[in-house]
Amino acid sequence: MRTPLIAANWKMNLGAADAQKFISAFVPKVEGIRGVQVLLAPQAPLLPQLVSAVKSTPIQVAAQNCGADKSGAYTGDVSPVLLHELGVKWVILGHSERRHVFGETDSLIQARLKAALKETLSAILCVGETLEERKKGETLKVVARQLGALQSGTWVEGYDFKNFAVAYEPVWAIGTGETATPAQAQEVHHFIRGWLTENVGEGEAQVIRIQYGGSVKPDSAEALMSEKDVDGLLVGSASLKPEVFAEIVQNAVKSGSDWKNDKDRFK
Ligand code: PEP
Repeated sequence: MRTPLIAANWKMNLGAADAQKFISAFVPKVEGIRGVQVLLAPQAPLLPQLVSAVKSTPIQVAAQNCGADKSGAYTGDVSPVLLHELGVKWVILGHSERRHVFGETDSLIQARLKAALKETLSAILCVGETLEERKKGETLKVVARQLGALQSGTWVEGYDFKNFAVAYEPVWAIGTGETATPAQAQEVHHFIRGWLTENVGEGEAQVIRIQYGGSVKPDSAEALMSEKDVDGLLVGSASLKPEVFAEIVQNAVKSGSDWKNDKDRFK
């Protein structure tokens, strides 16, 4: 019963003119597609431009990170209050590049998440193991540790868990061209669903979307989305070209998973 959530993470790519061109080409390709939620995450200065460009479409805009506080001496961070004011609906937190290139810790990521939720931003928490951790058989242990950001105390009263997603992004698959197999993704997604059931709640775990990310391409989208616990995709390099990302959205919705049989999803 979960609407597929397909997000484009543009990282530090696409300037103002590129973003405008992207929207002009992308929107006509996806506007007829029902039963899917699409997010675009541009570089921070382009957020207002994108919010305005997608205003009359169902597409929503995501920030690639946010500050851990409302305001203060945090050079380079963007306040979740400002994101909310700008009409940004979503924020991606704990992306592997934030963890591994910029050294963000689990506790900092949790603080950012709490600050985002307080400002009613919807959030995607990224988790995933490195190749070394996978080879040592530590995948589930690492993912469980990163999910620790979701312990009680993180959530605001009456939180609607439709506004929250976990993205499983194995670090060895990000930007490498090596996609996890659908079975590899499902194994970890199943573990995440179980962890959410135990630590957040049974009903909540059924509502929270779990995305897969890591070298997703149009030809891998459908098979990944066919897995029971794969509810969406977080796409990096293949989201930079409107025709390629549109094909991913199209293919993701083609998959034969349970939600496709739920007619209400297409209303
Ligand atoms: C990402 O950065 O979230 C990502 C999944 O990148 P790519 O699709 O390029 O592997």
